[in-house]
Parts: sequence; C-alpha cells; structure tokens
Amino acid sequence: MKWQGDKDRILIKDLKSIIDSSATIRGRVTEIRDLGGISFIIVVDRSGLCQLVIDSRQKLPVLQSIVACTGRITANEKAPTGIEMYVEDLEVVSSPEKELPFNPARLNTPIRSDGPNIETLFNYRGLSLRSATHQSIVKLTSELLRAIDDFFRSRDFVEIKTSKIVGGGTEGGSGLFEVKYFERVAYLAQSPQLYKQTLAATPLERVFEIGPAFRAEKHATIRHINEFTSIDVEMAFPQGMDELMDIQEDLIKHCIAHLSSTCQDTIGILETELPKIDGDIPRLDLDQAKEIVTGVKPTRSKPAQDLTPEEEHKICQWALQHHNSEAVFVHSFPVSKRPFYTMRQENPRKTQSFDLILRGLEISSGSIRVHDPKLLKANLEKQGLNIESLSSYLEVFQFACPPHGGFGIGLERLLQKLLNLPNIRYACLFPRDRNRIEP
Ligand code: ATP
Repeated sequence: MKWQGDKDRILIKDLKSIIDSSATIRGRVTEIRDLGGISFIIVVDRSGLCQLVIDSRQKLPVLQSIVACTGRITANEKAPTGIEMYVEDLEVVSSPEKELPFNPARLNTPIRSDGPNIETLFNYRGLSLRSATHQSIVKLTSELLRAIDDFFRSRDFVEIKTSKIVGGGTEGGSGLFEVKYFERVAYLAQSPQLYKQTLAATPLERVFEIGPAFRAEKHATIRHINEFTSIDVEMAFPQGMDELMDIQEDLIKHCIAHLSSTCQDTIGILETELPKIDGDIPRLDLDQAKEIVTGVKPTRSKPAQDLTPEEEHKICQWALQHHNSEAVFVHSFPVSKRPFYTMRQENPRKTQSFDLILRGLEISSGSIRVHDPKLLKANLEKQGLNIESLSSYLEVFQFACPPHGGFGIGLERLLQKLLNLPNIRYACLFPRDRNRIEP
C-alpha cells in the first residue's frame, strides 16, 4: 500500500482521552508476543508506547517494522500503559530488509560496564539509538543544553560559533588533526580559546560557545574521545578566579536542578541518580589536595604537579565525606602544567587556574588569562611556540585588552558524570576514537 500521509494520525500519548473509540497510530514495532490465538505487539512513537491486540492468524509485522494501525482503544489495567488497541487494520509502511544483529528492545536496561558489547552498540548505532535507554540519554542531553543556554543568556553572555578550521593549535603542538586546505595545511580546532578571548576583548565582554573540539591524541580510555563538544566560556573583568569558579558552580547546580525537575522519567530509565552537591563546592589549592590524597605535604622544592586519575577519585571521596559534595575545585596549578596564556600568581611558579572534578573525573579547566602582550610573547618564547603563527591573536592584546578569564567544560564528560555512565562514549551520539570513524 502507498504512504497516505499522516493526517489521521493520533499520538499514542493522546489515546487515553479517546477510550472506546477508534483511532489510527503510526510508529515502530518493538516487541511481538504470539500467544497462539492472539498476539500482543508493542508499537512506539515519539510520545510513548501502545500494546496492540491482534488475531495471530493475520500476517504479523516483523520486529522494527514501521506500521500504521487502526483499531478500537480500550482500557486494560494489565496492559503496559493501561490501555490497548484491538487492531482492525494494520498496514506495514516499511519493514527491515536485512536481518537485525540484535533487538534494540533488549537494550532497555540501565547502562553497566558489564552490559551489551559496546563496539556492537556503536557499530549499529542506528539500532541502539532505537532503545529507550539510549534515547533517554539523547533527550537528557537536549535538556542539559537548554539549561546551559538559559543559564548563560540570563547572565549577559552572548552565544558565539567560531571557525573549526584553524592555522595552528593553542593547547600544545601535538594533538592536532591536519586537513588539506587548498595549497596548504590547516588543522581542526582543539578549542576556541583564541577566538573566545578575542570576543571577550570586545565590548561584548561575555561570550560562550558550545561546539566541537578535536584532539588527535592516541588515548584509549573511558574518558577520552577524539572529537568532543566543548562548552567554552570567556568574560572580561572577572573578580579573580573565584568569580569564574562561582559562575561554574552556579552553572552545575542549575543544570542538576533543571534535569531533576524535567528528566525524572529518563533518569528513572537509566536507574541513576544525579550528583549530590549540598552547599558550596569545596575549593582546594593543588598542594592541599595532594596532601589530602597522599598524606604527604608538597614542599617548595618538590611542589605538587597534578592529580593522577586515582587521586581525582580520592579527592572527590574526601569532598563527599567532609562537604557533602560530589564535586570539588582544585586550583593553583604549576606554570609547567598550564598553557602559555595562563596568568601567574604572586608566587610566579603557580598559575591562576582551576579544574572542576566531578565524581572522580576532571570535567573542566579554567583560568585568568594573560592580557599583557609583552608577557604573552615572553611566555610563547619560553614554551618554544611560534610567535609568527599567532601574530593576529597577539594583535588583540597589542590593541589593548581588558583583564579576562574563562573555562571550558567537556559536554560528554559532564554527562558521563551526571549520569554515572561507565564510558564517555555512551554520552556521544556517534563517538570518534582512534579506532572508530564510522558510523
Ligand atoms: P585530560 O588531562 O583529562 O586529557 P585536558 O587537561 O587535556 O584533559 P583541557 O584541555 O583542559 O583538558 O580541556 C578542558 C575540558 O575539555 C576537560 O576538562 C574535558 O572535560 C574536556 N576534554 C578535553 N580533552 C578531551 C577528550 N579527549 N575527550 C573528552 N573530553 C575532553
């Protein structure tokens, strides 16, 4: 039969208001149970699911078919949603022409590290995304993006989109993907760092961008991917790095509150809980944090350098135990561990920089930036970076620039930790890693 359009379609969620009448729904077949004389078929659309009751002698559709079904709607408290349709007419609009490698309905369980094979899930991403579990992550991501957008707009930040094809890197020379750009080589942007600083130097003062960032790093971990979505923020005239941490703290709390009021059903499907942050997120100097997790006090001659992944876990356990917070800020990283644009402290070996660690994983980095062009040049020279290639960036500062600072949060890492997902890839629609470029 030919596709007749969907004028007569009713969404499944609206069926409860027309019990005992006839209706047509359109959607996908996700389960079939043949009980001999009759069969139960589950059909889903964007609004919910409906149980169909159908005579088994009829030719039944196969799993994952797209169907249009007309029938009488009746109440039945034993049906999964309390109503069902007695099918009078069932049209198969489209049915699979290839054997399914798995039944997406079998994925409707919370995501666990010992769950279905992750490679199979992503090899057949079009199918795994048909499961309620994976769709719930997509919906929740959409709500998270709305919360982030609302938050920044309500604080005078302007949303920007900057170019992802660039002439050089900002986060260190390695880790750049090369692309052929007419007669020369260009790179995929590792971060919008230089552009967001350029915008913060205009009278707009406050900008944010949500966009892709590319890192050609040969990681094979549960927290790294080669293309991630970066939530980048930059503002002029911050009251020191504490104001930047205040904004980030408010943002995280706003996101958790928004998700817990809008996404209870999706959180329920994932059988997870959003992080607990009662009161303030603790803020620790790196040396303090190191002493807490190792029991050894760093000294002037042997200062702390960074936290290992295990230490990030431990410091979060400490924060939960002592501050009822599953998040903790660690700040004042040494100069050697931060990019050339990071402002130093009065103690010139330390920078005005910070990381936010959530449930044992660094989800963001931020700092006050250098706005003095002479200092910037000196830093570039010290780090052996090419001043020529950054000349248009340096001009921003040579033409006068306000003090400024900002931070970047990885969207997928934030989601991974908000939902307690065992691998960052579950927080991506189509992850890119060293071994995966398709689908
Ligand atoms: P890491 O040390 O964990 O590799 P990084 O210090 O290189 O991260 P930054 O350059 O400071 O990360 O980037 C800021 C944020 O961007 C990180 O806190 C993280 O949330 C996200 N991010 C960076 N690299 C990746 C990646 N390869 N995959 C996913 N997210 C990333």
